Formats: sequence, structure tokens, C-alpha cells
Amino acid sequence: MKLIILDRDGVINHDSEAFIKSPAEWIPIKGSLEAIARLNQAGYRVVVATNQSGVGRGLFDMMMLNAIHQKMHNAAQQVGADIDAVFFCPHAADDNCDCRKPKPGMFNEISRRFGISLRGGVITVGDSLRDLQAGFVAGCAPYLVLTGKGEKTLEKGGLPPGTLVYPDLAGVVDFILKAPVEVSV
Ligand SMILES: [Mg+2]
Ligand SMILES: [Zn+2]
Repeated sequence: MKLIILDRDGVINHDSEAFIKSPAEWIPIKGSLEAIARLNQAGYRVVVATNQSGVGRGLFDMMMLNAIHQKMHNAAQQVGADIDAVFFCPHAADDNCDCRKPKPGMFNEISRRFGISLRGGVITVGDSLRDLQAGFVAGCAPYLVLTGKGEKTLEKGGLPPGTLVYPDLAGVVDFILKAPVEVSV
């Protein structure tokens, strides 16, 4: 099984310092949903792992988060893309949970749920250092995109070893799907 794990805000949709608190505020980054569709066509299952501390802070509730994700699923379907599952951490930073990135809890849960080791080259894509740290600790190959907080993340440095950098999710997918073709005689 081919699996890829994506951060949400700043990778699939435009990020906001004020949090994405409603479906109206969830706006896809140009080309991101089409990139997910191309992954699906190549046999990838696409899973999202996202910190949503706005829930823990009381900025929006679970019903609203579900409505936001419903909009994301609907928008994806319109371009033939399928997001298999959304794993989210609803906790605030001081809740000290095991799921909030940079902790690898969500990645380990994904590994369990899909019955797949992440150490066999499963790719994770994020725009923040903590996305890449969480994925790296869980065994994923980290990819930084420069959308969302990505430019700032690159400037600050300290990326996990082997991190690859691409302008956006579409660029990552261009690269992944360009992998050498096996020739059989
Ligand atoms: Mg992000
Ligand atoms: Zn959590």
C-alpha cells in the first residue's frame, strides 16, 4: 500500500494566523486538490494529520471542525480527489497530549490504523518544523512546502536531516510521480 501523510493548513489550504474557524475560511491552495487526485490515480492513499488547537482554545467546536472537513472532502471530490482520513489533535499546547505535533502520536496512530510501517519511505508533507519533526520521528520522509508558513520555516532552519523542499504540494507530487519507471523486457 502506498500512503502519504499531509498537514492541512498551509499545505492543502491557505493558513491564517487567526485560525481556520469556519468552512468559509477554508480556501484551497491552487493546485493542491488536483495534486491529491494525481496521487490517488497513482495508487496513493492520502491521509491528513493536523493540529487543531483552536478546538482546545475554544475558538471553534467539533461540529465546526467537522463542517470544515466536510467542505474539504466536497472540494476534493469535485476534482476527483479522495482524502482517506483526517487525523486531528484538538488539544492546546499546554494540555501535554501525545498527539500534538511535534509529537509523533498521530503518525503512530495512522501507522496502526492502516497496518503499515512508516519507515518504508512513507512521505509526509508539512509547512511547519513541527510537522516535519513529528513525521521524521515516526519514520517518514519529510518534505517541506513553501506555502503557508513554509518560507519562514525554511529561513529558521534546523530541518530534520534529508528534508526535501518544494514550492507547494503540486511540486512535491510532480517529483514523487516522476520516479523512475521500471522497464521489463
Ligand atoms: Mg501547517
Ligand atoms: Zn492532542
